Amino acid sequence: MGKIDFSNTRIAFESKSDKELRSMEFLFRMMSKSGLSSLASGIGLKAVQWNVPLARWMVEKTIFKQFCGGKTLEETIPAIEALEKYRVLTVLDYGSEGREEEHEFEKTKNQTLKSIEFASSYNAVPVVSSKVTGLARTELLKKYQRAREELTAGEQNEFASVEARLDEICKLGKDKGVAVMIDAEETTIQETIDELVEKMMEKYNREQVVVYQTFQLYRKDKLAYLKRLHQESLEKGYFLGAKLVRGAYMEKERKWAKEGGYPSLIHDTKQDTDRDYNLAVLYCVDNYRDIALCNASHNVESAKIMVDRIDSIGAPKDHPRLNFCQLYGMSDYITYNLASAGYNVAKYVPYGPVEEVIPYLIRRAEENASVTGEMSREYKMILQEWERRRDN
Ligand SMILES: Cc1cc2nc3c(=O)[nH]c(=O)nc-3n(C[C@H](O)[C@H](O)[C@H](O)COP(=O)(O)OP(=O)(O)OC[C@H]3O[C@@H](n4cnc5c(N)ncnc54)[C@H](O)[C@@H]3O)c2cc1C
Repeated sequence: MGKIDFSNTRIAFESKSDKELRSMEFLFRMMSKSGLSSLASGIGLKAVQWNVPLARWMVEKTIFKQFCGGKTLEETIPAIEALEKYRVLTVLDYGSEGREEEHEFEKTKNQTLKSIEFASSYNAVPVVSSKVTGLARTELLKKYQRAREELTAGEQNEFASVEARLDEICKLGKDKGVAVMIDAEETTIQETIDELVEKMMEKYNREQVVVYQTFQLYRKDKLAYLKRLHQESLEKGYFLGAKLVRGAYMEKERKWAKEGGYPSLIHDTKQDTDRDYNLAVLYCVDNYRDIALCNASHNVESAKIMVDRIDSIGAPKDHPRLNFCQLYGMSDYITYNLASAGYNVAKYVPYGPVEEVIPYLIRRAEENASVTGEMSREYKMILQEWERRRDN
């Protein structure tokens, strides 16, 4: 038990110079003040979309630099190489979501295909991620879920194009030996996404895992869904790719359930979410012979539970189906300590034009804002590292 010391800030921040650590400290200090964070996400980031002079420059030098790999694929190379130096892999993530037009969906698809081609020439980039919301109109995904029989002929064609785009991405992933993780979204569209991803897994995960489904364990029904899909994959003869997350849209979901007068699908307490998340991690580790797991979380307890289970069942700690993942710019103390101990760990590295990644940056700013006045985990770790550097 407890073989990795996650409080080792020397390993966590070894890749950061004093100057880089100082910039990180400034940014996380700013973000941990919740007023400032809402200001930044409310006005600062939106100012980029409104083309306010200097706003783009400010965002690019601060929050974008911390959480994104670059504006283009080529610009992500230094980040990929810096991670690789410490045995950390990269999941490339083209930041585009909530689009509405066919030409934008085609652009996102083409960019994802490009990222697969690019990844296939880098051993340190075994996976790319994709969001169905970057490939389809949200209203169409909603309608398909609510009443697919009511889709007009035009909408049926439109839906077929969405499936074709996703298929093209997964097929190229298979041909090039690059895995594709499909993000999970709000409950109003997730059933549609589930259905599409299941189809892709059945088609492309025959010899190895190419396509990963994302399971949001803050949902009351997703642990059972994971087990059911595992059984189904065994019956149908494909490997299950399971990216586990807690889930990013709790507040929105609760608000919608309240307004709509229906019971929320999200667990009532954090403890319930944590229980299901950790049970899902254990289930996947125990079944690593036919499930490829990606434990995508910044929760150190969930990382420890996985490490302990890998040890206790005697699985190789660097087995290709046993993976951890954190977001670029966050929870380095988990990532680098896992990598240094020999586990497979990757960073999700978003890239894209600044205005495209704004929704993603807003989520990061909000996540790091403290509502209770407590210091963020990140900020505490940075201060500890300063103390250590001063004492040495
Ligand atoms: C690599 C990576 C990829 C990701 N991809 C996706 C994705 O595709 N789709 C997606 O939705 N999210 C995704 N996320 C975000 C993820 O869902 C979480 O929001 C985020 O990681 C915080 O959860 P945590 O496991 O790190 O741990 P923690 O910080 O311990 O948990 C916070 C989470 O717990 C849950 N929670 C908090 N309070 C309560 C409560 N009162 N009741 C019930 N539950 C509660 C919420 O889900 C909250 O986000 C991703 C995260 C990572 C690291």
